[in-house]
Amino acid sequence: MAAKVYKNLIGGEWVESRFGQTFENQNPANTKDIVGIFPKSNKDDVNQAVEVAATAFERWRLTPAPRRGEIIYRCAQILQERKEDYARDMTREMGKVLKETRGDVQEAIDTAFYMAGEGRRLDGHTVPSELPNKFAMAVRVPLGVVGMITPWNFPMAIPSWKIFPAIISGNTCVIKPAEDTPLSTLNLVRALMDAGLPPGVVNIVHGYGPEAGAPLLEHPDVRAISFTGSSEVGRIIGQAAARNFKPCSLEMGGKNAIIVLNDANVDLAIDGALWGGFGTTGQRCTAASRVIVEKGVYNQFADKFVSRAKAMKVGAGIDEQNDMGPQINQQQIETTQKYVEIGKSEGAKLLTGGNRITAGGLGEGFFWEPTVFGDAHGKMRVAQEEIFGPVISLIPTDSLEQAVEISNGVAYGLSSAVYTRDVNKAFKAMRDLQTGITYINAPTIGAEVHLPFGGTKATGNGHREGGIGAIDFYTQWKAIYVDYSDRLQRAQIDTGE
Ligand code: ADP
Repeated sequence: MAAKVYKNLIGGEWVESRFGQTFENQNPANTKDIVGIFPKSNKDDVNQAVEVAATAFERWRLTPAPRRGEIIYRCAQILQERKEDYARDMTREMGKVLKETRGDVQEAIDTAFYMAGEGRRLDGHTVPSELPNKFAMAVRVPLGVVGMITPWNFPMAIPSWKIFPAIISGNTCVIKPAEDTPLSTLNLVRALMDAGLPPGVVNIVHGYGPEAGAPLLEHPDVRAISFTGSSEVGRIIGQAAARNFKPCSLEMGGKNAIIVLNDANVDLAIDGALWGGFGTTGQRCTAASRVIVEKGVYNQFADKFVSRAKAMKVGAGIDEQNDMGPQINQQQIETTQKYVEIGKSEGAKLLTGGNRITAGGLGEGFFWEPTVFGDAHGKMRVAQEEIFGPVISLIPTDSLEQAVEISNGVAYGLSSAVYTRDVNKAFKAMRDLQTGITYINAPTIGAEVHLPFGGTKATGNGHREGGIGAIDFYTQWKAIYVDYSDRLQRAQIDTGE
C-alpha cells in the first residue's frame, strides 16, 4: 500500500511545500513501514505561514476568551472520541507502547480542558491608585504570532502544552513539529480545526529544524518562541531569539535521579525506578537515568531491580504484551551504544543489557536491551550526561545528604525523587534538591498538566510550561490608568503635601 501523503496547514488549507520536497516518517519498530510522506518545508513556507498567522491574529485577539475556550473544550471532546486512533498512530510513528501513547493523548485532553476554563479566568489585577479619582489595573494581552518547535518524544502532549495556552490567550501560532513524529501534531491540530478553530490561528509547517524551524527565529512578525528539545539546539535557538529580542521559552535536557533511602519501601522504589528509567524507552527529559541507593539496601535493590529489568518484554509498542518499545531512530540508538561503551570503560559494572536487539523479528527496528550499570559514581559520564535511552546507573551512597549532593551535581535540574518513610528526610530533600520538580515516593516522571513543568540550570531558561506559568509566558502585562478626576494629576508630583 502506498504511504499516505500529508501536507502543511497554512491558513486552514492543506498545502504542499512550495518546492514540492518531502520526507518519510518511519515506524521505529520496523523501518520498512512508512507511516506517511510529509512536506520538507523551507523558509518560504514558514514566512507564508507567519504572514497568515499575523493576519488571523487581528481577528482572534478580539474573539472573546470564553468563546476561544469553547472551541478548545470541543477539541478536548473530539480528542476523547479519537483517543484510541490517535494513540495507535502515535505508537506507529514514535514507538512507545500503547498505554503510554494513550497517556500522551490524555495529556492533550487534560490540557485542553484546563486551558478551556482559563478562557473565563485569564485574570489580571486591580490596585488602588496613588491619586484620587483614578483607577489602575494590569491586564494580560496576547503577544501576537508565536513560533513553536517541538520534539518527538511527546508528539501530542508537548504541542498541546504550547498551543492551548497560546491560543486561549489570544495568540496565533506556527508550529514546526519534530521530523520523526509529524503525524501526532497534525492529528492534534486536525481535532482543533474540526472543533471550529478559525483558519490561520494554528498553522503547521513540517520539515527539518535548520530549514523549517530556524526561519521562525528571524521573522519579525514572530513575537515569541517556545522550544522543547535538546540543550544543544536550545542554545542555538536561545541565542537567535535573544538577538531578535524575542521572548523565548526553552525546555531542554535532564539527568534526573531517584534517591532510595534505607527506610524506603524497596519494592515500591523498584517499581518506580523501572517505570521512571525505562518508560518511553528512557527517552524522556524527566527519565530516571540515575538511581542513588543508600548502602543499607543497595544490594537488595540492585538484585531485584536487575532481575525485573531482565524480565521486561521489549518489542513493538503496538503489541500490548510488550513493556518497552524501540528507540526513535538510528542516531539515538548509536548514542545509547556509545554511552554503554563509555560506562564500561569508566569502570561501571554492566549488570544487565548493553546490546541492540535484532533477534525475534526486531532487526528492522531500533530496539535496545534494558540496561543497568551498578557501582557507578556521580562523576562518571554515564551519571552526568543525558543519554535518552534505556540505560540506568545505580550509584551507592552513604546518606541523604550525600545523595542530594550527587543528585544536584549535574548540569541539569529538571526532576528528582526520593523514596523514604521518614517525613523529616522527605522535607529536607524537598528543600535541598535543585530541580523544578520533586516527587516523594513516586518516580521522576508523571507531571500533571496544571502544575508548573520545567527545570533549573541547563534544563531551561526560567520559564514554565503547564499551569499558570504557561499563561504567564503567552501573555504580557499591560498597565492601564483611568483618570476620572477631570483635571491633570501628575504621578509622584501632585502628592498632596
Ligand atoms: P530531540 O532529539 O529531542 O528531538 P532536538 O533538539 O534535536 O531534540 O530537536 C528538537 C526540535 O528542534 C525538532 O523539531 C528539530 O527539528 C528542531 N531543530 C533542530 N535543529 C534546529 C535548528 N538549528 N533550528 C531550529 N530548530 C531546530
